[in-house]
Amino acid sequence: MTASPDTRTHYVPEDLPTHIQHYIDGEFVDSVGGATFEVLDPVSNTTYATAAAGQQEDIDAAVRAAREAFTNGPWPRMKPRERARVLNRIADAVEAQESRLAELETFDTGLPITQSRGQALRAAENFRFFADLIVAQFDDAMKVPGAQINYVNRKPIGVAGLITPWNTPFMLESWKLAPALATGNTVVLKPAEFTPLSASLWAKIFREAGLPDGVFNLVNGLGEDAGDALVKHPDVQLISFTGETTTGQTIFRNAAQSLKGLSMELGGKSPCVVFADADIDAAIDSALFGVFSLNGERCTAGSRILVERSVYAEFCEKYAARAKSIVVGDPHDPRTEVGALVHPEHFEKVASYVEIGKSEGTLLAGGGRPEHLPHGNYIAPTVFADVAPEARIFQEEIFGPVVALTPFDTDAEALELANNTKYGLAAYIWTNDLSRAHTFAQNVEAGMVWLNSHNVRDLRTPFGGVKASGLGHEGGYRSIDFYTDQQAVHITLGTVHTPRFGATDPAATD
Ligand code: NAD
Repeated sequence: MTASPDTRTHYVPEDLPTHIQHYIDGEFVDSVGGATFEVLDPVSNTTYATAAAGQQEDIDAAVRAAREAFTNGPWPRMKPRERARVLNRIADAVEAQESRLAELETFDTGLPITQSRGQALRAAENFRFFADLIVAQFDDAMKVPGAQINYVNRKPIGVAGLITPWNTPFMLESWKLAPALATGNTVVLKPAEFTPLSASLWAKIFREAGLPDGVFNLVNGLGEDAGDALVKHPDVQLISFTGETTTGQTIFRNAAQSLKGLSMELGGKSPCVVFADADIDAAIDSALFGVFSLNGERCTAGSRILVERSVYAEFCEKYAARAKSIVVGDPHDPRTEVGALVHPEHFEKVASYVEIGKSEGTLLAGGGRPEHLPHGNYIAPTVFADVAPEARIFQEEIFGPVVALTPFDTDAEALELANNTKYGLAAYIWTNDLSRAHTFAQNVEAGMVWLNSHNVRDLRTPFGGVKASGLGHEGGYRSIDFYTDQQAVHITLGTVHTPRFGATDPAATD
């Protein structure tokens, strides 16, 4: 691992807020009861701000504002083109603030600055994409010749609760905000408590873009308080959630009472399968990026690398050498490739898996805190080889810069290993054999498959996992479907043939 020369300096962006508020009905407000929580930065692990901690009454106020804006406000009734103009102005504003957003995101999450920059552009793209989609949107009309015409009347659903994780906060928020708003819903966003900083920028961006008050509401707070109240609120019709599988299960149970629409993007332990006929150097580049980008805090990380035995030794040697050369350091240094993990609690979790891994595999690189970084939530890119499928580091999501390598001998064994976890989010397959690639892709239990590449996604494609990685798919028209009702309207042509109940004189039938 290479020391980054700037790791002793700790960059702090100018004009950081010392207090982060909710945004309800067009106003920045504190919690009704005044509750707050502390927000740390992952390099110094000291408190840089307090944030309002939302409770039931704050969620009630936000949902009331969203409901009023939905029932009586202009947003759900605007023409798609009018809403699209607002969405495009939002995208312009996000792009214009790219460097500010990136520095705040990096400060709050510990993501390397070069990778945070991409997040802002992707967030803007989400708004542009859904602006285009709603303008081009049309719905089905069906005809039964001479008898009936049916058409679909697509309508926004109401108040959408959006609950998001901390790994790429702003970008993941945009992913839900853009389709929810584009389709005419009003929203209450509950961002992750580890990283509330960038979410607070939305309010100003939305207000200046002309989004009516009450359409977007933001309540900060802990999952078990603010998140829980949002999920259980009877006037919230939809919950779009991204986070851990266990949290998703809790939300499913809690949403049952009020029968909400649910979209669940959950955890992963995705396989990266490398066959001997692949371009091994390209596979190594991709498999390194696939697990060590975003500090390994990536739901689609290819964190189990399965390699055909004839190239396994060569792969392990080259892969470990590169992992050792990854630049770990201050997230704000543009040379940094792996920054600091988001929070000391998460650091402890990842560090404990590194210790578990030492008895489950052969340590080839990393293995704990880098020597040149005695403070902050840093873990060296860690590579374990010869990991058996029963191992915890093979089965459980670590969500950090830790990877397990396992050899295989046949296609059947590779498939069995690939499918041998409870998760099914992504899979990466490296081979130059066309039929092997497609056969494997069709049999692997994963919501998304990349052949000879890492995670590069066209926004039109479905996004989502199978098994414990999620339920429902978003992406493109699937997001439009999730955030809208499709009401069927039936018109009968000509004479309606109706059985005439009660039209017969009972006396006459005797
Ligand atoms: P998390 O489940 O701990 O928290 C996610 C959000 O849920 C936070 O806002 C949290 O406050 C809230 N929450 C927690 N308990 C809640 C409850 N009882 N009711 C309502 N809300 C509650 O997840 P995390 O640690 O923030 O994020 C990491 C996880 O997210 C990983 O498992 C990762 O794989 C997953 N993730 C998945 C995707 C995907 O698209 N599949 C994308 C990114 C991250």
